[in-house]
Amino acid sequence: MVALVLEYYVLLRSVLRAKPHLRACLTRCRHCRIFFLTHPRNAGRHDLGCPFGCRQAHRQRASAQRSAAYYGDAEGKSIKSQLNRRRPRKYRAPEPPSEQPRAPALRRRLAPWDPAMVEHVRMVASLIEGRRVSRRQVRAMLQKVLRQHTMCRRRKIDQTVAWLNEQPP
Ligand SMILES: [Zn+2]
Repeated sequence: MVALVLEYYVLLRSVLRAKPHLRACLTRCRHCRIFFLTHPRNAGRHDLGCPFGCRQAHRQRASAQRSAAYYGDAEGKSIKSQLNRRRPRKYRAPEPPSEQPRAPALRRRLAPWDPAMVEHVRMVASLIEGRRVSRRQVRAMLQKVLRQHTMCRRRKIDQTVAWLNEQPP
C-alpha cells in the first residue's frame, strides 16, 4: 500500500512539473491527508474528501446519520418498522457480502471498474491532456495498463523459473 502511494506521488509530482498550471487544482484529503488533483471548479478548497474511498465513505456515513436522525425517535422507529413490513421481500436491504468470495481471481477479472475511480481518472486525464477524455477511453486505457502489468509480472516469474532451472538451489 505504501509503495503504491509512493508510486502515485512520484507520478503526481512529474505531472505537476510538466503542467505547472495544474498546481491550482492540487488539494489534500481532509480525512486521510493524501494529495490529489481536483476539478478546477474546486481549486483552492481544502474541505474535500479524496476519490480513493474517503469521499464515498463520508457520503455513506452522512446518509446513515441522516437516516438515524430521522428514524431515531420512538415515533420514527415505528414508521421505519412499518416501512420495513410494507416493503416486499425482494426490496429488503441487501445482505452484506460474505468475507470470502468463492472465486476471487475470476471475480477480480470480471469486476467492473469503480465508477468514482473511473470518473477521477477521466477528470485528471482530461486536465493533463487539455481535452475531453471519455469514460470509455479511460476504461480501455485501464484495461490495457492492467494487461501490461500482468504480462510484466508473468515475464518476471518466467525468468525466475528459467533461472532456477539453470541454477538449482
Ligand atoms: Zn482520503
